[in-house]
Amino acid sequence: MERITRLELLARGGRAALVAGALPFAGRLADLAAAAPSVGIFDELGNALRGNIVVRGASGYDQARLLYNTRFDGSKPRAVVYCESREDVQRTVRWARKHAVRIVPRSGGHSYGGYSSTASGVIVDVSRLKGVTLDARGRAIVGAGARLIDVYDGLWKHGRTVPAGSCPTVGIAGLALGGGVGLASRKFGLTCDNLLEATVVLANGSAVVANAHQHPDLYWALRGGGGGNFGIVTRLVFRTHPVGQVATYSLEWPWSDAKSVVQAWQKLAPHAPDGLFSVLNLNAAVGGRAHITSAGQFFGSADKLRELLKPLAAAGTPTRFTVTSRSYMDAQEMWAGCGGTLAECHLPPQGNLGRSTFKGKSSFANTPLTSAAIDTMLHQIEARAVTGSGSGIVLLDSYGGAINRVKKSATAFVHRDALFSMQYLAYWDAGANAEPNLRWLKSFYAAMRPHVSPYAYQNYIDPDLPKWGRAYYGTNLDRLIAVKRRYDPQNVFRSGRSIPVRRG
Ligand SMILES: Cc1cc2nc3c(=O)[nH]c(=O)nc-3n(C[C@H](O)[C@H](O)[C@H](O)COP(=O)(O)OP(=O)(O)OC[C@H]3O[C@@H](n4cnc5c(N)ncnc54)[C@H](O)[C@@H]3O)c2cc1C
Repeated sequence: MERITRLELLARGGRAALVAGALPFAGRLADLAAAAPSVGIFDELGNALRGNIVVRGASGYDQARLLYNTRFDGSKPRAVVYCESREDVQRTVRWARKHAVRIVPRSGGHSYGGYSSTASGVIVDVSRLKGVTLDARGRAIVGAGARLIDVYDGLWKHGRTVPAGSCPTVGIAGLALGGGVGLASRKFGLTCDNLLEATVVLANGSAVVANAHQHPDLYWALRGGGGGNFGIVTRLVFRTHPVGQVATYSLEWPWSDAKSVVQAWQKLAPHAPDGLFSVLNLNAAVGGRAHITSAGQFFGSADKLRELLKPLAAAGTPTRFTVTSRSYMDAQEMWAGCGGTLAECHLPPQGNLGRSTFKGKSSFANTPLTSAAIDTMLHQIEARAVTGSGSGIVLLDSYGGAINRVKKSATAFVHRDALFSMQYLAYWDAGANAEPNLRWLKSFYAAMRPHVSPYAYQNYIDPDLPKWGRAYYGTNLDRLIAVKRRYDPQNVFRSGRSIPVRRG
């Protein structure tokens, strides 16, 4: 079977993602957490919980507090509360309010800004709420802490899916609340477009169900408004879609073809039939050559896909052009970069995927990149290859199709007229000097700014982005602020990039 590594393809998991036995991660740490002592106000909470608490200094704490990105390893919350039910989340929120303890929700821990941790408060971890079932009406009932690979797997057993992202360990709640783009998005829409209902624990500890009929304004805001803003989601209900076979492809050209390939890709990918989702990946590795590759997934036959891709392949002289028909689940495992069993396709202690050290930024292209813009992009990748320390990537994800048929105001996700998103990523080794890597990323982003729209993707949340409210939410920002004021007037759920209670 043809395999495409995640670095080759989306690079979303970073180089370390494929390395077995890399740094441990704060997943479900029942064994470690059980040994944690509770002190003071934590006794009060611990006695009321079905789950458990890992306080600062307890055994297991140094694993429990970790997020996916090693850049945030310095964050030391007062405790991590592992909730095992909606009631646990409610008790934790009420307890936190009573004792004026700051709380942040955590699902999969993949926040680009480290916003699912807090130096001064407590992490409310929902990773044990991870059930994935299909109800009699064909709707997926998903616990807020389920990882994407488990969502795919749980629904594949019924021949169905929810469109979501490619990284296996991302949490469904964080992904869906900020949008959720992946290889089925042009066919079935964003993850948030398929969200029918969410159960949310609000700042006063009450739980509400938000859907088209109950709390419709909250329901609107939860579909793209971003995690960590309105309350703690415990349960999500999604529309599902039947899936069977798909065709996937992988293309690579010599770097000398890069300009014509970018031109051909942006002509094809955003306007292709809905069934095709395509990614273009410009990749620089230290001391190595720059690479240009493309990969994608098509709901249709291998022959039809090969036909569709002809103009893209012909933009240069491909050194690789493979098209493979496979089951939908096999494709998800491939995109995830999972070798071995599905059980291994998790972070430790369950699996053998590793964490990563990176920073990302994003833009949207609402019009095709000009010749000058493409030259700039290629130059920046080449500059990284020559002078960088680490690796650097720009990933172009095709929009259009079902994503763009939703009105900008229909959900909080406003980016409905983009041709494609651009994600700039710098990776380096944990413990290495971050500075040259961050400098490269900053200069890449600054060089591209005049050539792209002022928008950015809220799921690639960026603590350095100025004017982020409009960049993430555009014309939906004011309505999001109004929803925030209604559901969390005291701004209990806050981070450096959370929706404010009033206009700034
Ligand atoms: C390796 C990698 C691959 C990725 N691939 C994709 C992709 O293919 N497509 C895509 O669209 N995005 C992708 N992303 C971005 C991803 O969607 C966001 O980082 C998302 O926020 C992660 O969700 P999480 O639950 O894992 O993270 P967390 O860090 O747990 O949460 C993210 C934010 O949501 C809040 N939050 C978490 N749980 C809850 C809850 N239950 N209720 C309310 N708020 C909550 C947190 O406080 C935080 O602010 C990727 C990210 C990484 C690191």
